[in-house]
Amino acid sequence: MTNLLWLQGGACSGNTMSFLNAEEPSACDLVTDFGINVLWHPSLGLELGENLKKLLNALTSGQMPLDIFVFEGTVVNAPNGTGEWNRFAGRPMKDWVTDLAKVAGYTVAIGDCATYGGIPATAPNPSESQGLQFLKRQQGGYLGTSYRSKAGLPVINIPGCPAHPDWITQIVVAVATGRGAELSLDEFQRPKTFFTSFTQTGCTRNMHFAYKVSATEYGQRKGCLFYDLGCRGPMTHSPCNRILWNRQSSKTRAGMPCMGCTEPEFPFFELAPGTVFKTQTLMGVPKDLPSGVDKAGYVKLTAAAKAASPAWAEEDIFVV
Ligand code: SF4
Ligand code: SF4
Repeated sequence: MTNLLWLQGGACSGNTMSFLNAEEPSACDLVTDFGINVLWHPSLGLELGENLKKLLNALTSGQMPLDIFVFEGTVVNAPNGTGEWNRFAGRPMKDWVTDLAKVAGYTVAIGDCATYGGIPATAPNPSESQGLQFLKRQQGGYLGTSYRSKAGLPVINIPGCPAHPDWITQIVVAVATGRGAELSLDEFQRPKTFFTSFTQTGCTRNMHFAYKVSATEYGQRKGCLFYDLGCRGPMTHSPCNRILWNRQSSKTRAGMPCMGCTEPEFPFFELAPGTVFKTQTLMGVPKDLPSGVDKAGYVKLTAAAKAASPAWAEEDIFVV
């Protein structure tokens, strides 16, 4: 059996909802097929009060092994570094995080809040929120740069707002079946198997991106969402168009721009009206360009693409 404990800090429960919708494998498969013993989870755990404290103390004291420690939500440090705004089982949640991370075989951060701080850590960050090992792009976070779980890995970050259900369960299975050492992580500690390609990989609107044909309304069946509607698909590392949502679609397939939720800076936009879902431009050139493309290259590329665009690219093609 592999003991798994799931706790929640400053969170909306979105990643729990996502996890419970997993299909490949499902949350039930984790228990029945992969020998994972879910010791406690905020929506599934049975213990309350003193019984829960007993369980947590058995883990922190080493009486019971903790193989996988999953954390969802931010580590809340407010007010003034005390963590009193987020108390759990008789003490600040952040103190449980410190003690459990010390004894965990693997520590896994699920969702943007636990990985990089996400929306709660956006300035002015009144809850003094941090991700487990990052605050936005800055390494360190709550556990510090040198943190390693017992298996010798830093926190495994599975970002997303929420993370895709199957990214969660597949990584849990990998570590539970002893393949943790095979995981290769990128500079933001994301498993490379999911986060090397871009959201744009597999997007059905790629031909419209190539010919600079723009969608101007949500849900429009033709056109790329990059030129007017602020799609971050070309600069966001995620497999959203490879590992589809509900096995059948994605935001961009449905005509909704990618917001870049798997990158540490998410949410990127200021909350001023008109800055969300609108491509910010400077002299007609988008402020944020596809990864690795410079301004001069972009101008040349799009001029040539527009000139070469065939008539059919402007037709109402069903690309959903
Ligand atoms: S809609 Fe977004 S992800 Fe799809 S091709 Fe356009 S920019 Fe790329
Ligand atoms: S498409 Fe973009 S915004 Fe949507 S879940 Fe994937 S990475 Fe996040």
